[in-house]
Amino acid sequence: MKHQENALPDVERIWDAIEKNAWIPWVSMVEIARKREQPIIQKGAGIYLEDIQGNQYLDASSGPVAVNYGYGNEKIVNALKAQLDQLHFLHYRVGFAEVVADLFRKIAELTPGNLNRIHLNVTGSDAVEGAIKIARGYFEDPDKQKIISLYGSYHGLSYGTLIATGFSSFKDPFRRSIPPGGLHIPPPYCYRCPYGLTYPGCDVMCAQMLAETIKGEGPNTIAAFIAEPIMGVGGVITPPDKYWPMVREICDQHDVLLIIDEIMAGWGRTGKLFACEHWKVEPDLMTMAKGLSGVYQSISAIAVQDKIFEKFKDQKLYHSHTQSCSPLSCAAALAAISFIEEENLVEKVAEKGNYLRERLEDLAEASSLVGEVRGKGLFQGIELVSDKAQKLKFSAPDPGLMDALDKKFIEKGMLIRIGGYNSDTLYFTPPLIIKKDEIDKMCRIAAEVLREIGA
Ligand code: PMP
Repeated sequence: MKHQENALPDVERIWDAIEKNAWIPWVSMVEIARKREQPIIQKGAGIYLEDIQGNQYLDASSGPVAVNYGYGNEKIVNALKAQLDQLHFLHYRVGFAEVVADLFRKIAELTPGNLNRIHLNVTGSDAVEGAIKIARGYFEDPDKQKIISLYGSYHGLSYGTLIATGFSSFKDPFRRSIPPGGLHIPPPYCYRCPYGLTYPGCDVMCAQMLAETIKGEGPNTIAAFIAEPIMGVGGVITPPDKYWPMVREICDQHDVLLIIDEIMAGWGRTGKLFACEHWKVEPDLMTMAKGLSGVYQSISAIAVQDKIFEKFKDQKLYHSHTQSCSPLSCAAALAAISFIEEENLVEKVAEKGNYLRERLEDLAEASSLVGEVRGKGLFQGIELVSDKAQKLKFSAPDPGLMDALDKKFIEKGMLIRIGGYNSDTLYFTPPLIIKKDEIDKMCRIAAEVLREIGA
């Protein structure tokens, strides 16, 4: 009996349940059978995760770029415990708790300009889908419905968000039932400019293409342009400085709404509270999720400009879930925001981001496998190549290289996201609480892995 009490959870038993009963997204269940080297995680503290054998792993990417305030953040955990003791749930049709009202006020206060009207929901996809609904409902002309977005953009996988998400592989199986009206244009991907041009001599062709597309389709048919300020899932694609101000101007010229999706980049990750502030661009609608609570709860929001809300103020917005506006998720978000404020986290991220960037530039210089370092703040990515001069895709000679890379990082005690439009980008997007010596450690492990893989 004693022996059983002390027994470690059985790794085989866990994998059996996953293989026999789970249907995990983003991986085929045949593929997952080969992933048994992935650790079974038991707990997390700060920037580290620990598996059931007691091995520690540095989480270099904050999971899906979401665990912004680390694991076991005392302030947020305590706020959640207190809220659980007080009131775990209250539906918005029954009444409102103070914590919910406080969060509405706080987000409205912190978002730029006239983004004063806040809609709360549960997932990032809910926020994007709601923003698309609002943008389409804003115009009286029933033809002004199309949504332009970028190839390689990620806005979610629900039918409504697949209108905008710019990966064909995510859409293909469902292609015939995705709502119509989504158009895509090439992203500001300077390293592999789709026009073969170089900034600034290119006159920002990628932004001009937005104007061309609006004109070509007819401005009276376009409701909105939606984009991430820095493309996340697409591979930390960071636009050149002139891009966003040009985009704002083009949208204004053609009466097209601008939706900025800050779900991954928002809440301090880039060294500004919202990434669009780097370019002093104010969207008409802004979506946010992940960093809003650091995924201590599932909560998302749409911040809407006053002028847009005015059109809807006497209408009912049918866009919600049972758990929208839940006091528990609002308590997590309020605690996360007060953690950002009390810790001066945004300024610290800007500073630590510069430090990380320098270390990654050193890495790029030392390794023949690093094609480009890009990003802002603690939202950095490096695109791997197998040949720097020709910018050959890293996995081109051997697609198995990505798995080998993943395995090596795990062996060395680091979990890092490998993804992007070409699946060749390493995500250096650690929890925002990372310290400088931990940044050194993260970069040292990456250098070792690249040296061993490259050899
Ligand atoms: N937009 C962006 C920019 C995202 O990064 C994500 C999630 N990776 C989403 C939307 C969708 O959010 P969720 O997975 O919470 O639905």
